[in-house]
Amino acid sequence: MSGLPAAIVVPTLGRPGLRRLMEALVEGSGPPPAAVIVVDDRRGAGAPIDVAPLRAAGWHARVVGGRGAGPAAARNIGWRLAGAPWIAFLDDDVVPSPTWRADLAADLTGLAPEVHGSQGRIAVPLPRDRRPTDWERNVAGLRDARWATADMAYRRSALAAAGGFDERFPRAYREDADLALRVMAAGGGLVRGRRLVEHPPGPAGPWTSVRLQRGNADDPLMDALHGPAGPWTSVRLQRGNADDPLMDALHGRGWRDRAGAPRGRRRAHVATSAAAVLAAAAAARGHRRVAAAAGLTWTAATADFAWRRIAPGPRTPREVAAMVATSAAIPPAATWHALRGLRGCRGLLADRVRAPRPRPPAAPRPRAVLLDRDGTLVVDVPYNGDPARVRPMPGAAEAVDRLRREGVPTAVVSNQSGVARGFIGDGQVAAVNRRVEDLLGDLGPWLICPHAPEDGCACRKPRPGLVIRAARALGVAPAECVVIGDIGADVDAARSAGARAVLVPTPRTRAEEVAAAPLVAPDLPAAVELVLGAPR
Ligand SMILES: [Mg+2]
Ligand SMILES: [Zn+2]
Repeated sequence: MSGLPAAIVVPTLGRPGLRRLMEALVEGSGPPPAAVIVVDDRRGAGAPIDVAPLRAAGWHARVVGGRGAGPAAARNIGWRLAGAPWIAFLDDDVVPSPTWRADLAADLTGLAPEVHGSQGRIAVPLPRDRRPTDWERNVAGLRDARWATADMAYRRSALAAAGGFDERFPRAYREDADLALRVMAAGGGLVRGRRLVEHPPGPAGPWTSVRLQRGNADDPLMDALHGPAGPWTSVRLQRGNADDPLMDALHGRGWRDRAGAPRGRRRAHVATSAAAVLAAAAAARGHRRVAAAAGLTWTAATADFAWRRIAPGPRTPREVAAMVATSAAIPPAATWHALRGLRGCRGLLADRVRAPRPRPPAAPRPRAVLLDRDGTLVVDVPYNGDPARVRPMPGAAEAVDRLRREGVPTAVVSNQSGVARGFIGDGQVAAVNRRVEDLLGDLGPWLICPHAPEDGCACRKPRPGLVIRAARALGVAPAECVVIGDIGADVDAARSAGARAVLVPTPRTRAEEVAAAPLVAPDLPAAVELVLGAPR
């Protein structure tokens, strides 16, 4: 059986769930993954992470050290080390279903090239014999999450093009929605798959064995009161509010709708906190009636909030006490963290007001773009000498139009070994090139290598000759050029000449070439957008 086209990347804090995850992966059915990379993101020392269950299955598995900088940074370390065309991210507290690997294979098979990501289904088992606690309902929200990296697979090329996760998101909160929005903005589609993981509401901690012994239906409360999800977890979660201003700055205010993120209660929390501050300030200055009115507003808002959280829950005395106490603490905590997040990205917000473009290109604008011909500008017909068989690639006309409109000079760099092999003549190559320009307009200088691989010339890509000559013909340095092509030889020619490159893969492009490319785009207009930024 051939393996999965995916490497699995798991960031971990060494939680006990990791072993359960590994065992479930190995015991399930389906093809083996290309590799499993576990990123140990603990800051301090701990017992070494042991991937023995994976190695015992004969899998390629490794543990690499993170920087303790959070899941976004840890996942970036992991996928960059993986060579597979797909990267399947799993959180260390999920349990894949017994058919997860087989289902992942099915999810990834036959996806259109423009689909860049596939979301797994996330089930959150809730107690059947009582109502779920506030914490359990909180985790259950994952079930409807869109693009949650608890189980999300991306094409490696899409991750490379997006630059991976944004490491300014320090916690497992908005970093996944941020990445999904950027992949979609670059033209990549995201779909839902059929594979399933279970995400237990309470991470299995020291209390798991006790719970198994007693089989007591109330025991998940132990997790809520003593485990990582203690009564103050809901207050701690408010730290996530600090990420929302960054999301506003990066994606504009409509990002929640596009990312499918539920609208939070931040505004209500800010209003509640303001009432409390007003009541205290008025009382201090002796304005009794103002203080009373503001105090009443605060009491009513807090009671309303507490009741919203108590009503759907189990309403046990401990749960009610926890909800009352935390409902008073959450609004100020949410407000404090939102203000903190706002302060953290003040500069970004100001930039956005000045220049409302979603993402300026990270690299400087190139002074010229060098285009491969076959498989990039026109459909690749091997050794074509017939102008009648020339067909532009989808989006090619639009892409070269934009380059022309924005005054970016172009040239064509093309291997035509059919000449050396005697399949076609120089005149036929010239006739085909003329036809390409008839269809797409003037493309600048044409640099053609007519040699065969065994001639050992300096111009045939992946050698740098064509790129260097094209740059010289345009009066620019190779380092100021971007080469756009459909195979690894185009990328390598650019690299050896000191130019940048964008790969636009076709079905014939090999997965290793896609994985090795520094920048990948789904089509020619997207490649141009990568180097010039979004059109104004
Ligand atoms: Mg080509
Ligand atoms: Zn040559």
